[in-house]
Amino acid sequence: MKVKELVSKVLFLDLIKGLSITLKSMMSGAVTEQYPKERSKIYERFRGEPRMGVDENGKTKCIACNLCAINCPAGCITVESKRDPETKKRVLTRYVFDMQRCLFCGFCEEICPVDCIQLTMDYEMAQYSRKNFILELEQLEKGMEKIKYKK
Ligand code: SF4
Ligand code: SF4
Repeated sequence: MKVKELVSKVLFLDLIKGLSITLKSMMSGAVTEQYPKERSKIYERFRGEPRMGVDENGKTKCIACNLCAINCPAGCITVESKRDPETKKRVLTRYVFDMQRCLFCGFCEEICPVDCIQLTMDYEMAQYSRKNFILELEQLEKGMEKIKYKK
């Protein structure tokens, strides 16, 4: 064993070096994002919580064309409709979005001819119950119920 190595072992120089690094890190403060106090920067192309748009009268913009459901690769959208006997147009009777299966690929929002379904920039979608991820039309128009985070 060389003299330098021996001195290092006797005086625990490696241990002291390691502890000094730990101490320095402890003093320098947190480097991680302090959520929820700090909010992440959201980029324009981010796809988050799904929402359904309404018109100026508060009625759904959805024309029940079913394109979003057909193009969804995960099969998470269900559109139910009936034909209006007077206008002969389709009328939406039920719209269900299963967020548990969603890939957030954005195909549904891209294909929608009336810009009704949209994936917003809201990323706070945590829930305690799985059933809360199955969203009906009313919920999709209002937005998901948010869970209050407590420390
Ligand atoms: S984002 Fe993609 S996976 Fe999710 S509902 Fe739309 S098409 Fe389906
Ligand atoms: S593509 Fe748009 S308009 Fe057509 S069913 Fe889906 S949300 Fe409604």
